[in-house]
Amino acid sequence: MQYNILIVEDESDINELLVKILEEAQYKTVQAFSGTEAKLLLEKKIPDLILLDLMLPGISGEELLYDIRENKHSNVPVLVLSAKNSLGDKVSLLKDGADDYITKPFEPEEVIARVQSALRRLGKEDNCKKILTYKDLQLNPQGRIVKFDGTEIELTAHEYDILYLLIKNPEKVYSRESLYELVWHGGYYGENNTVNVHVSNLRKKLKEAGSKEDYIQTVYGIGFKLQ
Ligand code: CA
Repeated sequence: MQYNILIVEDESDINELLVKILEEAQYKTVQAFSGTEAKLLLEKKIPDLILLDLMLPGISGEELLYDIRENKHSNVPVLVLSAKNSLGDKVSLLKDGADDYITKPFEPEEVIARVQSALRRLGKEDNCKKILTYKDLQLNPQGRIVKFDGTEIELTAHEYDILYLLIKNPEKVYSRESLYELVWHGGYYGENNTVNVHVSNLRKKLKEAGSKEDYIQTVYGIGFKLQ
């Protein structure tokens, strides 16, 4: 299941950046650029989590937060976004019903970690996101971090998803079609070379990280598995 996150932020650069960060971590996003717009969206649908900037034109973040908590049906987690220097009174914010806060500027990893932990507290985040290992490879689904022999490897979202499937079921041979379906969520595979390209990038990155052996085996006529 994909979680829906409402981003309420009037600065479009920051709003877009949050969309990018969250979508790379497989969350769905909805954007609002003012408190008024957020309020309208909330009347239609309550998301799974809200990222809320405080300094907004029209209805302020604080007012919106008050509004959300007044509505007794809504225990949606709210993470407040705020510049460091204007976060003098975070204690009262948390009392007013914010679940957590993120100070600007932020690192992508921090945003994801706070979102995950807020969802987890609500029992919404999958609890069995254990670290997966295979030989010298380590994959941490929290934060989607992959390490080879302790060194982090930068993977694209699709490369990560492929590796995640392979390492989750190391004995299983995945056909190109099934990898394509699982990672790209459907669509016709056809003569597409996409999976091959991503697997070869993955192999390259593992080699660059110091792997002496090939972790991904090509099973002739079928697809790929770990080896
Ligand atoms: Ca603002």
